[in-house]
Amino acid sequence: SVPRFEGRTVIVTGAGSGIGRAAALKFASEGANVGLFELNPERAEEVREELESIRPGSGLVCTVDVSDPEGMEEAYRQVNDQFGGLDAVFANAGINGAMGPIEHMDLTEFQKTISVNLDGMFLSVKLAIPYMKKRGGGSIVITSSVNGNTRFSSIGMSPYSTSKAGQVAFAKMAALELARYRIRVNTICPGAISTNIDETTETNERMEEIAIPLEFPRGGDHPLAGRHGLPEEVADLAVYLASSEARHVTGASITVDGGESLL
Ligand code: NAD
Repeated sequence: SVPRFEGRTVIVTGAGSGIGRAAALKFASEGANVGLFELNPERAEEVREELESIRPGSGLVCTVDVSDPEGMEEAYRQVNDQFGGLDAVFANAGINGAMGPIEHMDLTEFQKTISVNLDGMFLSVKLAIPYMKKRGGGSIVITSSVNGNTRFSSIGMSPYSTSKAGQVAFAKMAALELARYRIRVNTICPGAISTNIDETTETNERMEEIAIPLEFPRGGDHPLAGRHGLPEEVADLAVYLASSEARHVTGASITVDGGESLL
């Protein structure tokens, strides 16, 4: 069968690690050219080298902070210049950021998570529009989280949960608005996945003041899947949603958590 992304171009943000890396590899193995948007150039370069062994020239590293408007505009232009268009965007870069009591949280700490997870997503969607209109359509997939629903979040994670809930609302508004251009927009809500994201948690020293013992399901493994998810198990869904197989799917928010949020 013909690879689903032959002759197509995809941007993946946060492509250097975890879910973004797994998606970049899958997109390339299905024939795509991939713009590897990453804050960390070493990580992105490693992924580009992995892509070389799949298909030479299929990866383009764009060292960029997704929340930087000028940097993002330039990176979208680079991808378009290099590969001649844009078919799909996986807006996936995200951080946990500040974890701690609201009472002792600085506005700047709150804003950091909002800036990467929401401003970054906004720019990823906005900048795709002119390129996708030129193509006659496109698909945008956003990585939210089950944490957008407070039942499945953790105390102290107010900035992260706010950003993840906001992503789902924004995606639905964008799906509604962009349908006229045949641009689909969907969100993925993963449960606990084994990646490097915990490195991005900035725990406030007064966190213990609000910590409450949570028996289940927060933290550790859970009895339904019995394990954390793998980045590849999220990437499979992202690639499906970005592909034309999902042509009738838009404005959807799909959970991939091994059943964790059923409890
Ligand atoms: P990860 O830390 O392994 O990978 C994220 C990558 O994004 C990193 O390489 C990082 O350098 C990059 N990045 C961070 N800030 C950036 C910025 N401002 N600009 C460009 N790149 C940036 O984490 P992951 O778990 O693969 O996270 C991907 C997405 O999945 C995030 O949106 C996260 O919220 C979401 N998610 C993760 C889990 C989980 O359990 N791991 C669960 C639900 C949702």
